[in-house]
Amino acid sequence: MKTKIVEEVAELVSCAADLYERFPEISAKVFETSWRIALAVNAKTPKILKLTTCRYCHSFLTPGGSARVRLVDGSVIWYCLKCSGKNRVRRYA
Ligand SMILES: [Zn+2]
Repeated sequence: MKTKIVEEVAELVSCAADLYERFPEISAKVFETSWRIALAVNAKTPKILKLTTCRYCHSFLTPGGSARVRLVDGSVIWYCLKCSGKNRVRRYA
């Protein structure tokens, strides 16, 4: 049951990414809903949800939209353009 919900949450996040260019407000709502579902189920957070969430302001990050993605010293850094927070992602070899 939990794995199915986690898959649904990952699908919602990718849907939010698709919607971002045309409807940023709706995309933010979809993303927030997916975040709330993941919290309510108390299952392991999908990787895509961890990647696309700002750890400081909990907003939705999309490369080229609400975030700037750079490679610095072997790790990927997502700069949130809303709060200027750095979200470091360890690079997997
Ligand atoms: Zn932020």
